Amino acid sequence: MIPDSTTPLFPLRVAAELSNTSIYSLRQYVDLGLIIPYRSATNRRLYSQVDIQRINCIRKYLDEYGLNVAGIKTLFAQVPCWLIRPCSENDRNNCDAYSEIAEPCWNVTVKGPECQNSDCRVCDVYRLSEKCNDLKSLFKNLPELKLPDAENQQSE
Ligand code: SF4
Repeated sequence: MIPDSTTPLFPLRVAAELSNTSIYSLRQYVDLGLIIPYRSATNRRLYSQVDIQRINCIRKYLDEYGLNVAGIKTLFAQVPCWLIRPCSENDRNNCDAYSEIAEPCWNVTVKGPECQNSDCRVCDVYRLSEKCNDLKSLFKNLPELKLPDAENQQSE
């Protein structure tokens, strides 16, 4: 198998070096669910390039934008995963990620049919790591949003 950006390659110490992050901080990000490293059969955590990009993104929010980890987690939770995936109405109605505002979609307990058996680590939503500190450019590429007021005005 040819490794790609989602292939789990790096143990904790190497991931910490590559992202210029302390091992303590890395563990904290994992415990909070900001990143989801691969777990081997022996429960060893391995990190991919996508994980490293996401760690770099977290560092940027912390060091340059002055957010704390709780704020970053809340930001990740605002990503409209159902539009990126995309999910059907039935999927949304049966998925906590559609209404959850405090946890990224990969952390919710009850996932819709579209996501129940998916590996979040290779999903397009988790792989948005390169753009995760530029949510505005992410929204620009999504289908046009309809605001409730605009809909009301049209029906008047
Ligand atoms: S597969 Fe996981 S990361 Fe992708 S949209 Fe579903 S819950 Fe989120």
